[in-house]
Amino acid sequence: WMRARWTSDPCYSFYGVDGSDCSFLVYLSEVEWFCPPLAWRNHSSTPSVRTTPSSQILVHVGFLTEESGDVFSPKVLKGGPLGEMVQWSDILAALYVLGHDLKISVSVKELQRFLGVPPGRGNCPLTGRLPFDLIYTDYHGLQQMKQQMGISLKKHKCHIRVIDSFGTEPAYNHEEYATQHNYRTNWGYWNLNCRQFMTMFPHTPDNSFMGFVAEVMNETDKRITRLNKVDSMAVVYGKEPSMWKGKEKFLAILHRYMEIHGTVYYEAQRPPEVPAFVKNHGLLPQQELQQLLRKAKLFIGFGFPYEGPAPLEAIANGCIFLQPKFQPSHSSLNHEFFRGKPTSRQVSSQHPYAQQYIGRPHVLTVDFNDSRQFEDAVHEVMRTQVDPFLPYEYTCEGMLESALVWAPNITAPACWPPLSAMQLLLAQEGVSCVGSCQVEGLICEPAFFPFINNPEAFTGLRVHCEALEAEVNHIFPAVSVEPGECFLQKEPLLYSCAGVQAKHRRLCPCRDFLRGQVAMCKDCV
Ligand code: UDP
Repeated sequence: WMRARWTSDPCYSFYGVDGSDCSFLVYLSEVEWFCPPLAWRNHSSTPSVRTTPSSQILVHVGFLTEESGDVFSPKVLKGGPLGEMVQWSDILAALYVLGHDLKISVSVKELQRFLGVPPGRGNCPLTGRLPFDLIYTDYHGLQQMKQQMGISLKKHKCHIRVIDSFGTEPAYNHEEYATQHNYRTNWGYWNLNCRQFMTMFPHTPDNSFMGFVAEVMNETDKRITRLNKVDSMAVVYGKEPSMWKGKEKFLAILHRYMEIHGTVYYEAQRPPEVPAFVKNHGLLPQQELQQLLRKAKLFIGFGFPYEGPAPLEAIANGCIFLQPKFQPSHSSLNHEFFRGKPTSRQVSSQHPYAQQYIGRPHVLTVDFNDSRQFEDAVHEVMRTQVDPFLPYEYTCEGMLESALVWAPNITAPACWPPLSAMQLLLAQEGVSCVGSCQVEGLICEPAFFPFINNPEAFTGLRVHCEALEAEVNHIFPAVSVEPGECFLQKEPLLYSCAGVQAKHRRLCPCRDFLRGQVAMCKDCV
């Protein structure tokens, strides 16, 4: 790896979208002035939030509206998308605690009222200014806003933040590019700045990492939990019967060693569709689920659901999370669930965050097709003692701290993260910037792309360019392996950490991050 360090530290702004002015929406400039995370961290055990002038924020939860087809809300009490509900409640709490002025809508009618669209006059450009500084919504909500606001959505789109659990990569987001290069999906093509999409886990840094909160135990509860742990008790991750289908073989092996508990939703008159030896509690209220997890030693996933909050909650309650490794990885190319999602991400296990950022002893990721490996893992769980653990970014304080990045006071001047944190790398052929930075223990920082999109960056990496051109391609800036032709990026919306292509070596702007808080770098605090 060749590496160059940049020392200058100029302020910069969110690159504009379609000429609309995003520059004021950006990140914070003098982090000390606006958001002193270190001071925040040292403040006290119950930090009080210094409220800067509040922003007017609309939170429009599109997937809960009747108009989105009402496929989600009827399922909420039956084990439906509870993970999303967890995140939405935490977003509301975080924005409120940070002192913002919130309005919430869960129907198109309310959306119309808040936006000032006259009833029955959808698809009508808003005249005058948008009555909100920011609007948090999701893909369903975005579609509804388009129907209500017509062409004026384009003018106001910098004010939108999209809650997008699985993430949207730049190549899928850019309408024209996606259409021309076969990246068109059911969801993408909104031409937003990809930092406007906010994810549940830090998938690709092209999007903003928003997260959610899981509960942390105090020292007394930790001591009691340690004493009450039952080494032979397992809870299965899966609240719908379909998640247990075809898993009888693993359940039988597990049952040889452990008592198996489940929280599968069922209707009173219908028996639960799980093996008779499973003690099924039905869907539990949060408090009772926490108690169950505090007793259990193992929380086991069988491959679905992907990337929910429950494994983090289990680990925070002192369980070990055992999950299947995916070989080959699941992706939009080979798995129904990811098909049509605007990401090329290769999902290497049921919960890649737990695998990559937490790992042993709290997380075991093994090949479930190998019964021997599976059985060994069960033995390892039973004999390993672990303490409850939660990465800082998923604690209350941690989420509020990263919220200072994803929900800054919008009047803050721009210059964040500081350019001094940048470490420039030349990726290997066919490796993305996400992967290249990761190998070095760093994280790709898309905000730095504008600073490396110049001939000096190639020179700094001692790359000899036979020729230099600017083109529209989501892997640029990069150098072709043969014959050493250098390419700059012509379209700022296509700066992409996730992009990858054989026969090119990408220029990657990486930065360090704090353990347990990827949103922050060492120079950021
Ligand atoms: N949950 C609960 N009771 C249960 C099972 C789950 O309250 O019996 C909660 C769990 O604590 C978590 C949320 O449901 O906060 C969603 O968890 P999951 O990881 O399953 O995500 P999903 O697949 O619903 O998005």
